[in-house]
Amino acid sequence: MRKKERYSFKWDIKKKEYKKGYSEVSQSGFYNRSEWQKIRNYYIFINPLCERCKKKDIIKEADVVDHITPLTLDDVYSDNHSMLYDDNNLMSLCNKCHSLKTNREQKINHQLMNDLFTFPNKK
Ligand SMILES: [Zn+2]
Repeated sequence: MRKKERYSFKWDIKKKEYKKGYSEVSQSGFYNRSEWQKIRNYYIFINPLCERCKKKDIIKEADVVDHITPLTLDDVYSDNHSMLYDDNNLMSLCNKCHSLKTNREQKINHQLMNDLFTFPNKK
């Protein structure tokens, strides 16, 4: 395999891993846990408005409770409470802001992958 091929091969694997990370957390059943449901319901009861819209002085009802720092399977399996259930990592969002944030996260990961797998220029 030439260097360039090896590079794109690695890239593909990494990309798959990231995608897997997202769906794995939901497939792990975390969002169906009664613990999470309770905390989610409580959080959205206390923070019923989209926090991102609120910053722009828009009053909009929140639809979801989002983890500010995205969860990984490790967090779920190690029952990492400060990631899973801590108020500091939670945010009420409307559906629109949630999908914007999710897109942004994917873009960040894309950038991260670029940084990780870009070979330094040969001199
Ligand atoms: Zn919003």
